Amino acid sequence: MVVPGGTEPCTCGGIGCLETVASGPASVRWARSHGWRGATGVELAKAAADGDAVAMAALDRAGTALGQAIASAAALIDVDLAVIGGGFAQAGPPLWDPLRRAAERHARWSFVSNLRVVPAELGAAGTLVGAGGLAIYGS
Ligand SMILES: [Zn+2]
Repeated sequence: MVVPGGTEPCTCGGIGCLETVASGPASVRWARSHGWRGATGVELAKAAADGDAVAMAALDRAGTALGQAIASAAALIDVDLAVIGGGFAQAGPPLWDPLRRAAERHARWSFVSNLRVVPAELGAAGTLVGAGGLAIYGS
């Protein structure tokens, strides 16, 4: 999904995909281009939680893009619940507050106005559990 502000080439071959704006590595790249000196998404999340202005802006940028994308997807396919997993989803309020604000601001149609966005209960392990289930139970 292409998002506002997305201008970088994506690994899928497209340009400006959500992945290029809101992923951990993309957020680290953006923060480093704005003077932040860390190296990982975990470090970026910790810096944002500690009040680093650039790190907070990076997570605000990522969260806003995620919220916009989720609201758009919800309007397209009429879902009430979006679950976000992966390591970067553990970034806490610096990511989740702007994400929820953007989703609420952009999910305006009555059929998506009850959209909820929540972190995956399995956290970063969700993909591994899913892969294990697929291996055991098949598709
Ligand atoms: Zn892409």
